[in-house]
Amino acid sequence: MTQQRVYNFSPGPAVLPKPVLEEAQKELLNYQSTGMSVMEMSHRSKAFESILADADSGIRRLLKISDDYAVLFLQGGASLQFSMVPMNLYLQGHPVDVVQTGMWSKKAVEELAKLGEYRVVASSEVDRFTYIPSVDRTMFNQDASYAYITSNNTIYGTQWQVFPDTQELPLVADMSSDFLSKSVDVSKFGLIFAGAQKNIGPSGVTVVIVKKELAKRASVDLPTMLQYRTHIQHGSLYNTPPTFGIYIISLVTKWIEKVGGLSILERMNQEKAAILYQAIDESMFYTCPNHLSSRSLMNVVFRIQDNREDLETLFASEAAKHGLLELKGHRSVGGLRASIYNAQPKEAILELVSFMKAFEKRHG
Ligand code: PMP
Repeated sequence: MTQQRVYNFSPGPAVLPKPVLEEAQKELLNYQSTGMSVMEMSHRSKAFESILADADSGIRRLLKISDDYAVLFLQGGASLQFSMVPMNLYLQGHPVDVVQTGMWSKKAVEELAKLGEYRVVASSEVDRFTYIPSVDRTMFNQDASYAYITSNNTIYGTQWQVFPDTQELPLVADMSSDFLSKSVDVSKFGLIFAGAQKNIGPSGVTVVIVKKELAKRASVDLPTMLQYRTHIQHGSLYNTPPTFGIYIISLVTKWIEKVGGLSILERMNQEKAAILYQAIDESMFYTCPNHLSSRSLMNVVFRIQDNREDLETLFASEAAKHGLLELKGHRSVGGLRASIYNAQPKEAILELVSFMKAFEKRHG
């Protein structure tokens, strides 16, 4: 059994900041003199209300979110949002404009197609999603219900560098894998959603930031739990919310503020990713399939020369023996992938790079 913490490159659930885990550990049995754990606490209690308020205000402060938007803490994962978004925002006869950049946008479209029509504005599928297609404002139909993008493609390792200008058309983004990893101008979006389990907390809680005005579109005949309206009206307390996950999010937002906020965090994320991409680009043994202009700071996808699957499997298993875990690429694309979210320490990347060099010496 491993006696100490490993370097965990999992795409999610993923590594959390150690100070956050230590704080949660310290408070696990007796949260701030309440004599009980957050897990055991009524969601209607004063103590939990203040945790929820902290998580909400933490996200609002970091992203400078105005009162026109609600911040919701929901269940069902990011995948439920693939259905909830069209259920609430689709307008009959106004097809959704979608930019296809990977598996998660395709999954979102599968759900959307059950409820309404859509139009693919741009896609990089013919090139195996190795880049974010360039789009300009003229490509969006102002009469669409909304435009839909995935800000970071966890599986393919690409990320929007500049968000599209959709003018008056509400822009909806799945930010599951880069939420709170950099500053984002929320006012440019109609709705943002993110499963927490990559950058901001454990699985089981999904953050939705929605323009209150937009949420009014939904039919009141939708199932109550599936209307954003319900959760806005009840401040995420219509039913029992994922309390422990919300508590961890509140601690993570405090940790981000302590680190110096989103612009500092973004610089740290850029620095970490640059170290890894440089090691890949400098070598003749490793390659990154993705265009320079679209590479993700969160999920670094790479392959071994000539797509040598045997060596890739060996790489992942030898790396694990060195305490570098979860480096295998997604089963649908193969290869290798290092997920280096906010909480991934720079030392993990330096350790990985030195392992890569040693592996190349042995097998290159
Ligand atoms: N969107 C993106 C970009 C993801 O990376 C994931 C999970 N890897 C999902 C959606 C699905 O999230 P969940 O498992 O929370 O439904």
